[in-house]
Amino acid sequence: MTVPILDLRRSFKDIKPEVFDALERIFENQSFILGSDVSNFERHCEKYLELPEGSAVGCASGTDALLLALMTADVKEGDEVITTPFTFFATSGTVARLGAKPVFVDVDPKTYNINLEQAVSKINKNTKIFLPVHLFGQMCALEEVKEIFNDKGVKIIEDAAQAFGSSRIVDKEIERAGTVGDIGCYSFFPTKNLGGCGDGGMVVTKDLKTAERLKKLRVHGSGTTYYHEEVGINSRLDAIQAAILDIKLKYLEQWNEERIKIADYYKLLFKASGLRDFITPPEVLDGNRHIYHQYVVRVHSDSNPNLRDELMNYLNENGCAVRVYYPLSLHLQPCFKYLGYKEGDFLVSEKLTREVLALPIFPGLQQKEQEEIIETMIKFFKR
Ligand SMILES: *Cc1c(COP(=O)(O)O)cnc(C)c1O
Repeated sequence: MTVPILDLRRSFKDIKPEVFDALERIFENQSFILGSDVSNFERHCEKYLELPEGSAVGCASGTDALLLALMTADVKEGDEVITTPFTFFATSGTVARLGAKPVFVDVDPKTYNINLEQAVSKINKNTKIFLPVHLFGQMCALEEVKEIFNDKGVKIIEDAAQAFGSSRIVDKEIERAGTVGDIGCYSFFPTKNLGGCGDGGMVVTKDLKTAERLKKLRVHGSGTTYYHEEVGINSRLDAIQAAILDIKLKYLEQWNEERIKIADYYKLLFKASGLRDFITPPEVLDGNRHIYHQYVVRVHSDSNPNLRDELMNYLNENGCAVRVYYPLSLHLQPCFKYLGYKEGDFLVSEKLTREVLALPIFPGLQQKEQEEIIETMIKFFKR
């Protein structure tokens, strides 16, 4: 048996007729950029996220969503952005792109999310933005620090690229990833929980003035065509992407529920396997609805720093596809050398890069495939 890390064909088969109808309609119309498909999808996202009408702005990618969010917060050279080193590159790549300075703090070993206490300790007069990531589909407890940042005039931009549909109960209210801070950013890259058939992204904000500005920034800063109030970028959501995402949005709850069931079954299998001395399954913070964009375990490295890689190679060679997100902490990336960080600065993040291992999790994954992965792991540790 071979178990893939991701097989999008399995969920596509449920929606194929709807998708092909939408494609036919769009090709008949020959209208491909923005338009009613995009605005319909934006309205549906607002409903799903319980945001006011006009607060969702589709754009060309999750990276651009971050870039547009930072631009609309007037982030510029010399500004500091407090963020996590344990994430996909775009989170701080966009900060650096605007000439601002990513200020890293370490992460929490249980949730892999930014250490909020340390984040607060980095606030100074140059701090413009706090940029947390809801990593792998689990939210940060932003309510613990929101007021502190607000009081200091620091805006919160959430990188919710991996967390569309993730939520958290705070004081008996549901808070949704991307809607807690001032601006939220999502990615619709094909592998994300809500993924299109190419690049796509979205920025949301309850401040409708900011949303209006975002709508201009995504079309070169123009409100009226060929009249430019400021210098923006070209970052629009295609009609085709929006139409497909709009269909998928209807299935998202069902698919996220399926991911949660798969995660629960992994947990059960780990408990029964006797592997807990070697492996820690992901932990869920009280109140969180983790939607498992990725199911990431830790392979304990204290007695053998290469154990994770050895296990990964063994699994991959034996038909079980697994991956590492992420193998190098951002503070150690060659392109960020100028920031002056060194090995040892963020011990948790660095340890995670040696220990994390992502197992397959996607709608349509079969229990027998999960069992195969755990059995292959048991074989590895018995050798
Ligand atoms: C995917 C991702 C992005 C970037 O999204 P793209 O649509 O690929 O540009 C940003 N941040 C995080 C945490 C991501 O996982």
